[in-house]
Amino acid sequence: MNANSIIKYLLTLDKNEQQKVFNFLEEKLIIGSLTTQIKEDIKENRFASGKVCPHCKSNEVSKNGKYKGKQRYMCKSCNKTFTDFTFSPCYHSKKDFSKWLEYIKCMVAGYSIRKCAEIVEITVPTSFSWRHKILDALRLYIGTGHVSGLVEADETFFRLSYKGNHSKNALFTMPRKSNKRGPNSKKSIDEEPKKRGISKNQVAVMCALDRNGNIISELICNGRMKYKDVERLFKDRIEEKSILCIDSHKSYIRLDSNFDVDIQKIETGKFKKGIYHIQHINSYHSRLKKWMDRFNGVATKYLNNYMYWFKWIELFKTDKDSMKCKRLFVQSHTSYSNTKIEDFKNRKPLYI
Ligand SMILES: [Zn+2]
Repeated sequence: MNANSIIKYLLTLDKNEQQKVFNFLEEKLIIGSLTTQIKEDIKENRFASGKVCPHCKSNEVSKNGKYKGKQRYMCKSCNKTFTDFTFSPCYHSKKDFSKWLEYIKCMVAGYSIRKCAEIVEITVPTSFSWRHKILDALRLYIGTGHVSGLVEADETFFRLSYKGNHSKNALFTMPRKSNKRGPNSKKSIDEEPKKRGISKNQVAVMCALDRNGNIISELICNGRMKYKDVERLFKDRIEEKSILCIDSHKSYIRLDSNFDVDIQKIETGKFKKGIYHIQHINSYHSRLKKWMDRFNGVATKYLNNYMYWFKWIELFKTDKDSMKCKRLFVQSHTSYSNTKIEDFKNRKPLYI
């Protein structure tokens, strides 16, 4: 049987059967070559400007044989050994590389911790730690970023959540009464009226977009936003002479005098002022809120990771899925990030 006759035969199968063949081929061929490419790309990215020791950043590095098929290196400066994956999310993992790839695929699809655990066949705690190891590393890799030209900015709010802080941690005391879970509890999350009744029980996330596709999305404060919060976010992150479209919030008031940018205020209730508007940022926020709904409220200390995850999805939304998997894997394994499971419980929310 040759390829043509196989294809001819495949066309006679129903959609379900064809899908099974497709999945098989994807698994066997695409994933196999993807694995090789990913490993090569991580190595190339990490050693982009010469071999570097992840422990002490020295360039005095030499090869030191292979262990379980992995190239080892030796640092002449600190005498420590390392591999291409030291201080990356899968460093120290006993699970196969294919499991990590499967997990990355689930993250590209935006699945919950539980759903990822079911698909990859790992426990929920493992799924949780993989998620935040990957996101911590990705956050380091893509960074806050900067914007220029025609920029839209606005803030959005998430309910402060201490989810996951109390169990197994005797030192933790709730700073406020716990939100009772009930049939209406989900509705109240993230649906507080904007700019009215903002309390310390909310976290402000500031997002800014420009027309070149750059995105900033950061937790900036707890409760009502002040000028100093906005200043801290934009300092060195907005190019001079940019045009910044914002709503009429008074926290932006001194931006134009302190930052050489042209401020275009869009009055409350109005959507457009000639070519200036905040429709892109409003639509980014509504996509973000809709996407976050599936996670049923994220603990504030992990919210930043979710902001970066969504930012990443938006940055590469036009890529094909296989490209997205490769990109997410490589980018999250390029930076040196050493998240340890024991650090999770004492983690604090990351405000910029
Ligand atoms: Zn070293």
